[in-house]
Amino acid sequence: MPTSLADYRSKRDFEKTEEPSGSRKVRTAPYPRFVIQKHDATRLHYDLRLEHDGVFKSWAVTKGPSLNPKDKRLAVEVEDHPLDYGDFEGTIPKGEYGGGTVMVWDRGYWLPEGDEDIDKALAKGELKFVLAGEKLKGSYVLVRMKGDRYGGKRNNWLLIKHRDDWANDDGDAALREDRSIASGRTMEQIANGTGKAPAPFMLGGSKKAFDADAVWHSVAKARQRDAETSAKPARKAPVARKRSPSATTAATASATASGTTAKAPRKAAAAATKRAAPAKKAVKSPPKKSAAARSAPARKAATKR
Ligand code: MN
Repeated sequence: MPTSLADYRSKRDFEKTEEPSGSRKVRTAPYPRFVIQKHDATRLHYDLRLEHDGVFKSWAVTKGPSLNPKDKRLAVEVEDHPLDYGDFEGTIPKGEYGGGTVMVWDRGYWLPEGDEDIDKALAKGELKFVLAGEKLKGSYVLVRMKGDRYGGKRNNWLLIKHRDDWANDDGDAALREDRSIASGRTMEQIANGTGKAPAPFMLGGSKKAFDADAVWHSVAKARQRDAETSAKPARKAPVARKRSPSATTAATASATASGTTAKAPRKAAAAATKRAAPAKKAVKSPPKKSAAARSAPARKAATKR
């Protein structure tokens, strides 16, 4: 398990919850994946997760991603999440950490733009990237805000669409496509645990994902339960374990449903980046930095927003 998941794990108790612990087998993919989970918590937000180094780098986008390059959407950096979390769709009981409904709103592949290393780009506070999702496509940038009111932690970023073929003056057009990309369900259906179970994307190879009525409890609730049942011996430290079969029934064994990107990754990524010039060649040869991305003209084009 990547050590960067320590924050994530410290907030959760996997002995007692069904929340992804990062221990489930995630399938390999030809490109790094991204997932956006619509999360109707205390405040509605969209969690943008970019796969990098075996985890999801994560930002909570308060108003959701905009297609309009004029919009700057606040994206609060949160702890890294395990890759299997990307398949979670269901509910967290009210009153618990992150309580509310979670929808897999969009997903697909992403690639960084330019010749800079991802870690360096993140450290510097400016990551340009291309999304090849079902709803979001084309070029975006995450820019860390210089001033920060929150104790110098500097976790506030802005998510901005670059001007390209997928930009739209109607910035919220994609947000109105308000059904799960994994199950086709509405937030209401997910909240009620009805309708289809989500088709897996991260866990596609394992033939296991989540039930239509998946629920997980956060550690806050688990600790509360511990306090209520103090007769128990000292609580064990959270340990990664296999999920029980009951929590991962074969209901979602088939990856056929709406997981189109999972079936034709190259096609999907290529299609979405088809006319995004700077990323085009990077998509064709993702393992190495593309020559096009290194060249000054290409970089210049990429930085335009
Ligand atoms: Mn969230």
